[in-house]
Amino acid sequence: MKILTLILSLTIIINLFLFWYIFDNLKTDSFVAFLDVGQGSSVLVFNSKLKLLYDVGPYGLKTINELNKLTKIYNRTLDVVFISHPDRDHYGGIFDIIERYKIRLIIINPYLSSESGYLKFLELIKNKNIPFITLKAGDYLESNFEKIFIVHPDKRYKNDNQNSLVLKILKNGKEFLLTGDIDQKIEKHLIEKYGKNIKADYLLIPHHGSKYSSNQYFLSNFNYAIIQVGQNKYNHPHLEVIERLNKMNLPYWRTDLNGIFMVK
Ligand SMILES: [Zn+2]
Repeated sequence: MKILTLILSLTIIINLFLFWYIFDNLKTDSFVAFLDVGQGSSVLVFNSKLKLLYDVGPYGLKTINELNKLTKIYNRTLDVVFISHPDRDHYGGIFDIIERYKIRLIIINPYLSSESGYLKFLELIKNKNIPFITLKAGDYLESNFEKIFIVHPDKRYKNDNQNSLVLKILKNGKEFLLTGDIDQKIEKHLIEKYGKNIKADYLLIPHHGSKYSSNQYFLSNFNYAIIQVGQNKYNHPHLEVIERLNKMNLPYWRTDLNGIFMVK
């Protein structure tokens, strides 16, 4: 009887392992995923060879939990991590992520900030010898699976939000614009500078739906909007922005209400 129980338990364990192994190996694909990291931002750009993360959210463990849903649990490498700008809801998770992942390259915007946590982050990556570079408008990255254009910043603006790294990504025949926390002044600048080239299928709504961003004229360049947002004291996403989206019939997704948004 004891032997039978032992065999049964072993079978269950082996089945569980097989299930986990098969399930984990199904997680190979090519996609862009807007993670649910609470009040903050993090977007995973994934293919079978490369993992890129645009911002890491405020809490590393929450971001890692989201990554575990989409990537192989035993592969603890992130090839490129972009930090759009020195706001905690965009870089705060990096400390836990550095502890648990090998990061091959960190990309930041060129404009230093006096934000104390951000300076600590820069200190840490120097101490750990993690390669990092700064990129600005005009720079460009390409892999077999995606093209990434840095469309902003082109110079130093007044505040950190306005210096956010803005990326345009071409992947699987679709275009994405990732916008950090830019405001309407930068939105206007991007339209003046790039004209119709700023158009994309998917827009990461700037600054979590702040009313100081998402000008109607800017929004009219996109087919679908994603609002990365969680509980917050700033009234994000602002009712004005939601009303604007509704009035324009621009469909949108909220990560706080609907979780991860994935485009294959
Ligand atoms: Zn933010």
